[in-house]
Amino acid sequence: MSKYRKCALCDFKVTLHRHHIVPLSEGGANCEENAILLCPNHHALATADDKETIQKIRRIKTGKKIGTKKILAMQKVNQIMIEGTSKN
Ligand SMILES: [Zn+2]
Repeated sequence: MSKYRKCALCDFKVTLHRHHIVPLSEGGANCEENAILLCPNHHALATADDKETIQKIRRIKTGKKIGTKKILAMQKVNQIMIEGTSKN
């Protein structure tokens, strides 16, 4: 769960949407690494593929400019780690 109960891009905190950084339809995972809380306004921008909004989200999430392929690779590593720990 996110510690920040407000939009990642502004201070709006009344209604929040969970946005998938890499859409599930493009192979994105339904996990925290691929999710970010956004207000309806920023969620609409992200869903509409607004380049500036998407880059901001990716920078917040990863600390740097990062492409879809890199995010997918990070998720893969994370899923392997999750699978590894669940066996214990
Ligand atoms: Zn916002």
